[in-house]
Amino acid sequence: MESVRSDQSSKNSSLVLEDTQAMLREYCQGLVPLPARLETWMLSLCSSPVLPEMVHEYGSPLNVLSLQPFQKNLNLLRETAQAFGLDFEVYFARKANKCLTFVEAASQQGCGIDTASTNEIRQSLDLGVPAEKIICTAAVKSEELLHLCINAGITIAIDNTDELLLTERLAREAKRTTKIALRISGFAYEGKKLNSRFGFDIAEVPSVVQRFWSQETETVSTLSITGLHFHLDGYSRHQRIAAIRQLLPYIDDLRSQQHPVVFLDMGGGFPMSYLDSKAAWERFWREHRQALLGNRNPLTWENHGLGLIADEGRLLGKPKCYPYYQSPVQQDWLQDLLQADCEDTTIAKALCRRKLQLRCEPGRSVLDGCGLTAARVEFRKQRSDGSWFIGLSMNRTQCRTNSDDFLVDPLLIPVDKEKTVSETAPAMEGYLVGAYCNESEFLSLRRLQFPQGVSIGDLVVFPNTAGYFMHFLESRSHQFPLARNVFFDPETEQVDLDPIDQEI
Ligand SMILES: *Cc1c(COP(=O)(O)O)cnc(C)c1O
Repeated sequence: MESVRSDQSSKNSSLVLEDTQAMLREYCQGLVPLPARLETWMLSLCSSPVLPEMVHEYGSPLNVLSLQPFQKNLNLLRETAQAFGLDFEVYFARKANKCLTFVEAASQQGCGIDTASTNEIRQSLDLGVPAEKIICTAAVKSEELLHLCINAGITIAIDNTDELLLTERLAREAKRTTKIALRISGFAYEGKKLNSRFGFDIAEVPSVVQRFWSQETETVSTLSITGLHFHLDGYSRHQRIAAIRQLLPYIDDLRSQQHPVVFLDMGGGFPMSYLDSKAAWERFWREHRQALLGNRNPLTWENHGLGLIADEGRLLGKPKCYPYYQSPVQQDWLQDLLQADCEDTTIAKALCRRKLQLRCEPGRSVLDGCGLTAARVEFRKQRSDGSWFIGLSMNRTQCRTNSDDFLVDPLLIPVDKEKTVSETAPAMEGYLVGAYCNESEFLSLRRLQFPQGVSIGDLVVFPNTAGYFMHFLESRSHQFPLARNVFFDPETEQVDLDPIDQEI
């Protein structure tokens, strides 16, 4: 009886969640909808009075974060690699979200941290992350940054010969043997070279090593090459497989010359999905193309192309947007990569038989499901064509990456749920605009539909913003304060401000 009852209650609660989800989505959707993948905690928070209270207390916009999905994502990656018997380490790329709570949690789970600046390193050390669990992959490394790494004993991913020379001099002066990884790029892929601004070209490796680590130089005793590192643009599994295959012979060579190479670091770029529906994603782009060709009404502000340009009845260019739907993702993607052919076996076995540790530096994908951004509606303004501008207390740097747009439907949370449903406010269609004083200040370029209208004081929620959207481009232009960051525990409803908001 007990199990029947609990089955029943879990069935009921999943029905309740489905209802909540359908209801939440009803208030706002794109002209061609792109329904967000929503975590249970997001659904319960969005239907609770706690969210408006939080925005009232901490200001708009507010970034709300949750730790549980992060811990789960990290675990799933590690379990997947462990199933292959692989020596595997995750270094969380913390530039994807600035909150210190994630750094602390990753470290407590035994993961490392990939850092990109002096402050990111200092904060990580202050939180008690052991130096051997930190890698520095900063794109530009000042003397101050290198000093910090050398003195603390942090592995440095070296990008170029100037950096190598400076690191060698500083390490020699400090009399500290320093671990480095050479960052490599220029892999051959489908008959072409994968060009990058980062790293040494793979073909240069032997000559660089020869030049710096030959008998006459002091580099031999100051810098030890403990790994090779790459981080590729984009999310292609096949490109990463090609890079690993091409690096293994170089690692064998380095080891045969007594270089203590213990790891291969494949960087980040693990794919994730913001949408559940492949069909919705494909339909959006099909309709958007038709709109750009003039065959239907626009889905975007002034028919913005999102990377595509219509030219005499043809479409040029390619989408300048994250692939918000993709498959496989995360641990399934990693599993496919580890099973791919390599030498006479698989990548996993080729690494295992060398006793080579595989490291990775995921940022975005391990933050999947970990955050949302909520902002308050301040005005509605009808335009001469009947559409509306909805003004939010938020600016466009507060939900933005290198993508042209955030291609996920926001949620609208009415201030007064009872009233909106029973009094059926007039339906509205229009665009979300932000607080910067210029004509291009759209929080989303997409034309959105609000079947029950929008009221002042309603909240607009951008779902799943923890990876990059919240912090990567946020600015203090106009002297607006930065958005606050709070962690929400769905069990206890406890709300804690992240300590990063106390840093200057
Ligand atoms: C940005 C970055 C990452 C993280 O990439 P994601 O796409 O967020 O997984 C990892 N390593 C390096 C060197 C990076 O620059």
